[in-house]
Amino acid sequence: MSSEKPSTKIIVQVVGGVILAGTLYLCRTLLIPGLKWCGGFVVSVWNWIFDSHAVPGWLIIILSVISVWCVVRVVMDLLSTLSKSLPALPREPRWTDFREFEFKGVLWRWDYYPSGEIGGLVSFCPEPDCRLQTNGEERFYGTYNQTTEYKCDRCGNKKEVEGTKRSIDNLVRREIGRLIDLGEWKKYVKPA
Ligand SMILES: [Zn+2]
Repeated sequence: MSSEKPSTKIIVQVVGGVILAGTLYLCRTLLIPGLKWCGGFVVSVWNWIFDSHAVPGWLIIILSVISVWCVVRVVMDLLSTLSKSLPALPREPRWTDFREFEFKGVLWRWDYYPSGEIGGLVSFCPEPDCRLQTNGEERFYGTYNQTTEYKCDRCGNKKEVEGTKRSIDNLVRREIGRLIDLGEWKKYVKPA
């Protein structure tokens, strides 16, 4: 058995019928003339646009320039707003971003020539707060015992590396080349 009373049902039906009748009446009396009026308006605007008007050429040029300028401004503003709202995509690191690594207890930094060759290899103190340039000083202990001491100018941190300054330089360059060839350089490059 329905919980609604029969009288409620009748009222709902009557109200529904009135709403439907009202809607149909409005459609016939307002919507159709309204559409006709809109159509007429669109046609008259269309005709006005394509009719020839007695407007001086200089006014057309000025208005055209202003219109183009406005459109350019709006587009530029929109693009700058969009670019600000979008988070900057992290750039994929390239091997040329690999310009620093610690090797043999010394921090090495370098640049690349346009040819990709390593240039300007410089040694630094690997201490986090003390990345000053170190000076390689060669020491000779007989023919087969050459070492180079890298001493930090600031904290006095010393690192003795086996070999002459030139041979260590070459060793570091070879190691950099090896890391690039094997793709292991990525471990030393922080994402941009
Ligand atoms: Zn230092």
